[in-house]
Amino acid sequence: MSSVSKVCMSPGGPEFSPFVQGYWRLAEWGMSSAELLTFISQHVAQGITTVDHAPVYGDPSCESLFGAALKLDPSLRNRLEIVSKCGIEKPPEGGGAGAVAHYDSSKGAIIASVEGSLSRLGVDHLDVLLVHRYDFLMQADEVAEAFVALKASGKVRHFGVSNFSPSQFSLLQSRLDAPLVTNQVEINPVNFGVVSDGTLDQLQEGRVRPMAWSCLAGGEIFQGQSAQMIRLRETLEVLREELGAESIDQVIFAWIMQMPSHPVPILGSGNITRVTTALGALDLNLSREQWYRLWGASKGHGVP
Ligand code: NAP
Repeated sequence: MSSVSKVCMSPGGPEFSPFVQGYWRLAEWGMSSAELLTFISQHVAQGITTVDHAPVYGDPSCESLFGAALKLDPSLRNRLEIVSKCGIEKPPEGGGAGAVAHYDSSKGAIIASVEGSLSRLGVDHLDVLLVHRYDFLMQADEVAEAFVALKASGKVRHFGVSNFSPSQFSLLQSRLDAPLVTNQVEINPVNFGVVSDGTLDQLQEGRVRPMAWSCLAGGEIFQGQSAQMIRLRETLEVLREELGAESIDQVIFAWIMQMPSHPVPILGSGNITRVTTALGALDLNLSREQWYRLWGASKGHGVP
């Protein structure tokens, strides 16, 4: 039985759990398939039912590792919302010494990417497909054609983007019949890019929730020795005490979720205790003064 309520990502869009479990780092966790099945079952039992993948995550492939665990209990698939991505291609095998990773948002590449994800995950559809990064050669009409074909075949239910600027988001949206259901972007108290460049404003305007990646700055927030990181940790510790929070990561997740576009944090930890602790952020409420205190600790100055 889920202990937390789901949230709607966009008008007419999919329902996600209020936290998403990210699987970018899965190949580093060193889990057997049975251990991974236990980890997935534990976060699902706590209400974290949405999972984030990408074909380019991991070596060995995180999608394949996840698929091997799901194979041990196929009934788990129906309790999950599976998000994966497309559009980043590794250097082609046999492409020569100078071959590079590149973006490809052509219709054929998008469809082939989804078919690869389905095969590695061992499932018949993705709940959401995101274009991972903006392709400077993107033909928006062609992406729209790929989305229509994938929806018609039942292989993908909803579509969104990741790391798109507001104008890139609007361009693709202009060619689609259904609203994009999210823009998955970096949100944390270290990097304020999407907070100030209009990305989150655009999502609030359309009532579309961002998915927030690297909320803890990839773990740097706990170890970084720069003046900014030290200021952040000191302020987070004071806020933790004031709010009665269990940990500073809880405070960060609450700070992110209080943004008016209602971001859904993606958890990057493979430690179930840390995953469980994150859920406590749902009960925290920062005052505006507390919210801006963390903003100021990051910037090194108060509001103008
Ligand atoms: P993150 O939460 O910022 O970083 C996770 C890292 O922080 C892990 O190595 C974790 O180690 C460590 N950590 C967490 N809590 C800690 C604590 N209390 N003390 C010390 N270390 C701690 O998230 P992320 O992994 O960078 O990103 C999350 C997800 O976002 C990814 O899995 C992926 O699904 C997605 N993502 C998307 C994009 C994109 O371009 N769309 C880019 C990056 C990531 P432990 O495992 O040991 O806890």
